[in-house]
Amino acid sequence: MPVTETDRFPRALALLKEYFGYKSFRPAQEPVVRSLLAGRDTVAIMPTGAGKSICFQIPALMLSGITLVISPLISLMKDQVDALVDAGVAATFINSTLTSAEWSARMNDIADGRYPLVYVAPERLETGAFQGITSRVPIAMVAVDEAHCLSQWGHDFRPSYQNIAPFIASLPRRPIVSAFTATATPEVRDDIIRLLGLHEPAVHVTGFDRPNLYFEVRRGEDKKKFTTNYVKKHADEAGIIYAATRKEVDRIYELLTKKGIAAGRYHAGLSDAERAKAQDDFLYDNLQVIVATNAFGMGIDKSNVRYVLHYNMPKNLESYYQEAGRAGRDGEPGDCILLYAPQDVRTQRFLIDVSTDDEERKRIETQKLQRMIDYCHTPECLRSFILHYFGGATESAECGNCGNCKAGATDVDVTIDAQKVFSCVYRMRERYGITLVAQVLKGSADQRVKKLHLDELSTYGLYPKKTLDDIKLMIQRFIATDYLALEGTEYPVLRLRPAAYDVLRGRTTVIQHILPEKEAAPETADTGLFQHLRALRKSIAQEESIPPYMIFSDKTLRSMCDVLPRDEEEFLEVSGVGQRKLEKYGKAFLQCIAEHR
Ligand code: ADP
Ligand code: ZN
Repeated sequence: MPVTETDRFPRALALLKEYFGYKSFRPAQEPVVRSLLAGRDTVAIMPTGAGKSICFQIPALMLSGITLVISPLISLMKDQVDALVDAGVAATFINSTLTSAEWSARMNDIADGRYPLVYVAPERLETGAFQGITSRVPIAMVAVDEAHCLSQWGHDFRPSYQNIAPFIASLPRRPIVSAFTATATPEVRDDIIRLLGLHEPAVHVTGFDRPNLYFEVRRGEDKKKFTTNYVKKHADEAGIIYAATRKEVDRIYELLTKKGIAAGRYHAGLSDAERAKAQDDFLYDNLQVIVATNAFGMGIDKSNVRYVLHYNMPKNLESYYQEAGRAGRDGEPGDCILLYAPQDVRTQRFLIDVSTDDEERKRIETQKLQRMIDYCHTPECLRSFILHYFGGATESAECGNCGNCKAGATDVDVTIDAQKVFSCVYRMRERYGITLVAQVLKGSADQRVKKLHLDELSTYGLYPKKTLDDIKLMIQRFIATDYLALEGTEYPVLRLRPAAYDVLRGRTTVIQHILPEKEAAPETADTGLFQHLRALRKSIAQEESIPPYMIFSDKTLRSMCDVLPRDEEEFLEVSGVGQRKLEKYGKAFLQCIAEHR
């Protein structure tokens, strides 16, 4: 009788505990593992943090033959292989960083069947690349990671992914083919199946929801002030600040540095060495916050990122959800806050315009941008909006954990303020920028105000007690809600939009939904011990030159605080502790816990 997947599954569970320290597969992982154990082509669409990799890593350890994992980024590949090796799994990679001597040696080891898991860059997949190997050891599975890179509809199309199908076709025996991605609209899903030539694949779509992430859009916010305050308030937590352009990244980086906050920065205009250093400092918890363009993050598996701030609106929801999704991969709470300003729309339009000459692509990108803009303005649940976009949820619901459905935000009647501000803009004949308008409203004694005789206006000094920043914030909010517009790029001036005239004439009232500052997430476990364990993890990481989260995730450290293990056996009970980790780190962590007790 042939061995079925039901017979094999207990072995998969045993391996899961042995290597990764987990007692069970998550509900989303199990069907994927089962369909691979049954030998079926499989597509798994799972949100970031759901634990995709384990779905192919465990079956790979059970198949007779090697599993090739196609992975788009060299840094990602190295991280994954390092983490596997640290867990005691024989894995290796093939990419362009190897010298030709290393390459031949490694190919030879692979052919000897020493590695059940081999990560390979798609560029390395010319047909025949593994010919010398397949006569000695069969390729049992090809696992395509980040499979959305296959599709033009994806947000990260990579031509080299077109090598995969011909490569598979050139193999003497067809392997199981599996494809994994976090981000896939139905168009992308169909492309993956078609372009990889999958045979009657099992398709598993996990809900895209990331319940531990808090989503919020802030419009009309003083971005600099908000960002500095936010980062200061979360000084002990790791966070990423994404901005749309290199220049903007530099500006935010300088702002934070000037305020005495140790930050890193990452964008394509920096040297390779600077970039690598910033990334390492962040991964190794030397720097808590990094300011970056979207060039940063594909290779970042860091699981303890507690917040992702978007200083600018990204170009589409795929990018947004992927970037924001880098928060809270360990399942602990994470904040995803987007600071929207109308200027962001202009920046993204411009970027689309210069990105390609292909009119069809431009049309697609513009369509996607519009949905992103809609996200920034919807009064509905933000989570439902996202899930809807990815074809997941059908009915709209209130999630209770996003800026729009969170209790506490209040509707405030700001009609009087609106009338004061708009009439000031009107009296200044729509010729000046935000700062000067704010100065006039405050009643500033600034030279320029005097010279232009703006102190003679009836709106001069309407808000003597408010700070200039508060007045500016008020103006920003009116811009965000489309009563005012900022026009011109070099010296933008404030103009009245049609809605503002209705307010001036007393025809409508202005209500704003204003949110209070969010409190920091409450600590779930004894923070004293948690901080000690963190420090221990960091010093081990430094010795071993691997990022701290690769040793144990924040979640595992928290679970140590809960379980408070006394001996090796109890230590093994902690979720995230496998045999190998017990041997390597058990002693040190047990001692730390004992001292705490
Ligand atoms: P993805 O690649 O889907 O973004 P990862 O593979 O990085 O996700 O996994 C996210 C986190 O979840 C990691 O810290 C991983 O160790 C953890 N994880 C994966 N599978 C399980 C499981 N069955 N039980 C508990 N934690 C898990
Ligand atoms: Zn909600």
